Amino acid sequence: MMAVRIGLVGLGKIARDQHVPVLNASPDFTLTAIASRNAALEGTAHFATLEAMLEGQPDLEAVALCQPPQVRFEAAKAALRAGKHVFLEKPPGATLSEVKLLADIARAAGVTLFASWHSRYAPGVEPARVWLAGRRLRGVTIHWKEDVRHWHPGQDWIWEPGGMGVFDPGINALSIATHILPPFFLRDAVLEVPSNRAAPIAATLDAVTEEGVPVRAEFDWRQTGPQSWTILIETEDGPVRLEKGGAELYIGDVAQPLPPEAEYRGLYDRFAALIAAGESDVDVAPLRQVADAYLSGRRVSVDPFEA
Ligand code: NAP
Repeated sequence: MMAVRIGLVGLGKIARDQHVPVLNASPDFTLTAIASRNAALEGTAHFATLEAMLEGQPDLEAVALCQPPQVRFEAAKAALRAGKHVFLEKPPGATLSEVKLLADIARAAGVTLFASWHSRYAPGVEPARVWLAGRRLRGVTIHWKEDVRHWHPGQDWIWEPGGMGVFDPGINALSIATHILPPFFLRDAVLEVPSNRAAPIAATLDAVTEEGVPVRAEFDWRQTGPQSWTILIETEDGPVRLEKGGAELYIGDVAQPLPPEAEYRGLYDRFAALIAAGESDVDVAPLRQVADAYLSGRRVSVDPFEA
């Protein structure tokens, strides 16, 4: 396959940290254009909007959308209708219905839509999934606790409706859990929302599998000091633990040898394979868990949050 000519929209933190370097090193893609309201990338054609980029570079074959979820639908719709393959950053949208509609539009246009979940490509996740297959579970505890001031400085969109607050990182844990565990559903949730914000700063989810195995998730953005991105799964054969967002895997207490971190390389390999096969991959299971928490969770007002 010839390298796919790709344009990138939204030159923010994740675009600079991951998409640009991974695309520049990829044999499958050539980064040929950037659409950004504020920023440019030396040596790459720049456009102020996605629409201008589509018009200015008609031979683009794909776009990667790295803006906040609230503005992603209109961009994805325009790109799909223009016949481009689309890579969606996580979460794939602000609502479940818009993501379903995008999948329908992609199918009608005969192009690939990829709803990416980068944490599923952390090195410990696949071996954990393989080890767990067929084993009997006793309980699951997720701790995703980090300091919002450190990780999300200046990101106002994250506190707005559709920004999802602490579910923005929490959905990464849910993307792993929905990938390696049997199906589970929410029984109870508490969302702690700062009195001056629209989105939660902390959330506790109590879910259960069909067999009644408890799955508890604690997300908190007020964590200073050590940060935790841990999933502990108790089984009849002992515990298995993912640490550091899936970068480390322990079976019992034994650290498993793993390849180096390459989440975004894995995502772009998958995107290239989907394009080559003429397929899409739009799994909304993690977003559905967040939607259920909003739907049935209890809201508690907590101290205002100032950045
Ligand atoms: P960010 O630093 O705030 O960047 C988002 C970019 O989107 C902005 O720089 C802006 O780029 C563009 N944009 C377009 N419309 C916007 C609007 N109305 N408000 C704000 N920005 C707008 O955010 P990010 O951390 O890169 O996150 C973007 C997406 O990637 C989110 O869905 C997030 O969950 C996901 N993600 C983030 C990380 C991470 O570590 N930060 C990791 C994985 C995934 P221009 O100025 O160039 O137009």
